[in-house]
Amino acid sequence: MGAITAAEEGLPFVLVLEATPEPLRKVQISGGGRCNVTHACWDPGDLVTHYPRGGRPLRGLFSRFATGDAVAWFANHGLELVAEPDGRMFPVANCSSAVVGCLKQAAKAAGVSLRKQMVVTGLNSKGAEGFLVQCRDGSNFQAHRVLLATGGHPSGRHLAAGMGHQLVPPVPSLFTLALEAPSLTSCSGLTLDGVQLKLTAGGQDFQQIGRVLITHWGLSGPAILRLTAFAARALHGDRYRAELVVNWSGTSNRNLVQQSLRELRQQQGRRTLGVARPFPNLPRRFWLSLLAQVGANPEQRWADCPAALERCLIEALMASCYSIRGRGPFGEEFVTAGGVKLDEVNLATMESRVCPGLYFAGELLDVDGLTGGFNFQHCWTSGWLAGQAIAKGH
Ligand SMILES: Cc1cc2nc3c(=O)[nH]c(=O)nc-3n(C[C@H](O)[C@H](O)[C@H](O)COP(=O)(O)OP(=O)(O)OC[C@H]3O[C@@H](n4cnc5c(N)ncnc54)[C@H](O)[C@@H]3O)c2cc1C
Repeated sequence: MGAITAAEEGLPFVLVLEATPEPLRKVQISGGGRCNVTHACWDPGDLVTHYPRGGRPLRGLFSRFATGDAVAWFANHGLELVAEPDGRMFPVANCSSAVVGCLKQAAKAAGVSLRKQMVVTGLNSKGAEGFLVQCRDGSNFQAHRVLLATGGHPSGRHLAAGMGHQLVPPVPSLFTLALEAPSLTSCSGLTLDGVQLKLTAGGQDFQQIGRVLITHWGLSGPAILRLTAFAARALHGDRYRAELVVNWSGTSNRNLVQQSLRELRQQQGRRTLGVARPFPNLPRRFWLSLLAQVGANPEQRWADCPAALERCLIEALMASCYSIRGRGPFGEEFVTAGGVKLDEVNLATMESRVCPGLYFAGELLDVDGLTGGFNFQHCWTSGWLAGQAIAKGH
């Protein structure tokens, strides 16, 4: 995006140095092969709330190039996007190769040169003369301006540090949780909505509500990914050991839960605990596992349910406590939190405040978003801004 924009704005010679045999590999594998290009979230003020790191400073960037601009940019380059009901936007062709094709075609049309298998290993500032860029194979390039967009790869962070930048240490974001929860293993594959999650890590409280998927290792799903994104640094600090409190009931009103259990006792007393459950939308397999968790006999009749057991069931429904024993496998997206500190970058141009002529874009910055297209969006935005500024010679 940075290279295409600079070339389209009239910069006569733009060269992309790509370490691997093919550029845009992450775009190719993104979104389960469909590439979730962006998210139908049109207001910059709303958009910034989807970035656990970056947040408010991104507002200025998004006021110049936000979701609507990205959608229009791709449309102008021959790629139409479509929003799914949850807001995620994908190419109409529903495959990531359409996005890769669009970017490659745009780069070619704009006259961007590409050198593959060029691993940049050194960057030296030559003052007014620009930069000397060194590659692993011994090639050297002179450049007036350099845009570093190396994603989460450590080499980019080393290059930035070598030019005097401070780096926020990288930690993973957007991961699932492995739990110590034998009672949940029988529920593997079930999805529950409106689940309230509360986590204390690094002395901070983190809360999320939403859809949770129970897996054979623990928990996944959108609400878990949002939780781990916001708590990424705190969880890393606590070595991924923490307590997770889960309210499965779909309500925070204790009286409501109490009342539904009382109604079962009074109106369906002859039925057993295993057959009649308090919330019909609670999957039966899940309800049976909660009964097992509190040691209740599913054959017992509701009429005979002691008050103490009722209290245990309310607790299990509203505040089940699980020990996190580590990170689970990653979700569909995986990003690195941390990177080049934003206060060392002029966010109007993406130019370094430490080393004039050096620019940054994408995941290398200390910015990361929630799952749903937000990670690519800040890449398009920062790449576009950097490309504009580089072409204008800022
Ligand atoms: C499996 C997966 C699925 C994802 N799906 C989505 C999704 O659907 N939607 C979304 O918004 N986000 C998604 N993401 C996140 C998204 O892919 C990243 O946020 C985004 O690719 C970052 O873009 P970038 O240009 O900063 O870095 P990258 O895409 O990582 O590109 C950096 C490029 O720089 C090259 N490079 C690195 N170091 C050097 C060097 N020293 N010399 C030369 N070249 C170098 C790399 O080879 C690479 O081609 C996904 C991530 C993963 C891992």
